[in-house]
Amino acid sequence: MTSIVVLGSTNMDLVAYVPRAPALGETVTGRSFRTIPGGKGANQAVAAARAGAEVAMIGAIGTDGFGAQLRATLEHCAVDTDLLRTVEGPSGTAHIVVDDEGGNAIVVVPGANGTVTSLTHGDEALIGTADTLLLQLELPLPVVVEGAATARRLGVRTVLTPSPAQPLPPELLAATDLLVPNEHEAAALTGLADPRAAAEALLRDVPEVVITLGAAGSLYAARGAEPVAVPAPRVRAVDTTGAGDTFVGALAVALGEGRPAPEALAWAQTAAALSVRREGASTSMPYRVDIEAAFR
Ligand code: ADP
Repeated sequence: MTSIVVLGSTNMDLVAYVPRAPALGETVTGRSFRTIPGGKGANQAVAAARAGAEVAMIGAIGTDGFGAQLRATLEHCAVDTDLLRTVEGPSGTAHIVVDDEGGNAIVVVPGANGTVTSLTHGDEALIGTADTLLLQLELPLPVVVEGAATARRLGVRTVLTPSPAQPLPPELLAATDLLVPNEHEAAALTGLADPRAAAEALLRDVPEVVITLGAAGSLYAARGAEPVAVPAPRVRAVDTTGAGDTFVGALAVALGEGRPAPEALAWAQTAAALSVRREGASTSMPYRVDIEAAFR
């Protein structure tokens, strides 16, 4: 079993399903509402655990009702939460609108996630036991940089999802083995709309890049090799929230198990395609048996 540590966010997703998203200043009537445990970090942790890895999570929840629910959900998904801190105050929340086309718009309020500003000795020891460290940008940037640098020092593979999109400090890029932006994040990071051109630009800073392209699949690029485009399975999308996190979690598992990159991408896309067919982020993530069945 490959071993993965996630240094990242836990949020309660507050999801309104609407015919169409409101414009600024406009009010629309929604069809329904759900609270769904999420956060990019927790989502990637659940995706990786369901895809067959041993997973532990470093981050923080609040002392509100959401916090207890978030911890319980991770534990129920077999994610180790021993180093998930509980801090006084609200948990992180994500306010999500999903329209009838399956598109989404999201506001994230960090809450407890914002208190994770540095690693403890225990965090460092845990990272040292992993094959892979998964990072995103929903925790304060200094701890993300520290996490990546620690993993690099300990010989642990680092996979960074640069979301929400923002300029990346050179020391973070220097400690990143694989960068996985979606096409919008890749364009924001490079100023280049064309994914191949963006990938080429990103390879100046990191050795490997995967750009996810929604229903079109993903693009894998490594220094000194031709980029490889891997098409996604064709499915009817109901809700693409968390598709990228499902993809990254499953990709880390496949790479950790030694699958070559193009096969690992195809396997991760099978997982992501299964997730977009159902509502929700973590609740819609497939289990390894389902991924294997659909991958054949
Ligand atoms: P994010 O969720 O971060 O915006 P993408 O929208 O690029 O990321 O989706 C991530 C991955 O999820 C894609 O590479 C693809 O494999 C899968 N995916 C997303 N949308 C669809 C879809 N409509 N049909 C099939 N696969 C999809």
